[in-house]
Amino acid sequence: MDKKKIIEEIKQNYLIKRIRAEEECDNFIKKLRKDKYFNDIYTDYNLKQLEYLKSKYDQENIKLKNDVDDLKKKINLYLKNKNIEKSKLTPHYDCPICKDTGLNGNKICSCIKKELNKRLSSICSSQINFHSFKDCDSSIMNETDKKATEILKTWCKNYPSVSKININIIGGAGSGKTFMLESVANEFINNGYVVCFKTMFELNELARLYHIGKSYKFSDCLNADILLIDDLGTEPILNNVTKEYLYNIINTRQIHKLPTIISSNLSPDDILNRYDERIFSRLTNKNICLNIMLDSNDKRLIKK
Ligand SMILES: [Zn+2]
Repeated sequence: MDKKKIIEEIKQNYLIKRIRAEEECDNFIKKLRKDKYFNDIYTDYNLKQLEYLKSKYDQENIKLKNDVDDLKKKINLYLKNKNIEKSKLTPHYDCPICKDTGLNGNKICSCIKKELNKRLSSICSSQINFHSFKDCDSSIMNETDKKATEILKTWCKNYPSVSKININIIGGAGSGKTFMLESVANEFINNGYVVCFKTMFELNELARLYHIGKSYKFSDCLNADILLIDDLGTEPILNNVTKEYLYNIINTRQIHKLPTIISSNLSPDDILNRYDERIFSRLTNKNICLNIMLDSNDKRLIKK
């Protein structure tokens, strides 16, 4: 993934967006200016505004400020009578912070970072539009689920100042495991991290392809800022692949202190039986792993 190239592409898109917004606004004002009354007050307003900005802090300055305010009132009254939104006189930018320039002062604006991480994450995830904690319908959640949600939200908020870097979200089918994983993914993208989201089935297939030399995308899983594995235990166990690569991923990420969040309906005992002692010990090490249990009743956690 070429980060620099993606940033350039995003900036290019921003420039196009900005020019369009400004052109649209200019054209709108041009139409309004066909009305002589509007044209006069609007021209006056712009001139006085300019004079005011150039003026120093003295009596003249106060007088100009009053003139500007009066003209502004006239413009607003004109717009109100014509039923036109005030905001139509300024370009509509997607990002109010940087006005779609991508720069906040001399720093890159958060909107660019968010877009960049979304793109990078989409390269290593099969999906990109994740649900968020905000989509949660707390009215249908019981105490166990509410507690689980709070723990995850707090963990996301505190990251990277957290002691547990592995989280196992455990619950049956329909308990909302995937929803929780997606919400964590969403928080991380919004906070500027590169997210890798895979079902265990996909990860297993990727490992198989890598094993036979047909894909090199496996490194995304090792290097992403956060890896989320959905539905551990639903994949077929492939000889020399499943257990070996799963161990490799979890171990490598633990060594580099990179978080891995797993959802599963397997209990710790099931994990020991299905995989092996090495994977079990990596996933249940109490110093760095956290188990979050969801209520196993089938339900919809997502607002319709
Ligand atoms: Zn911005």
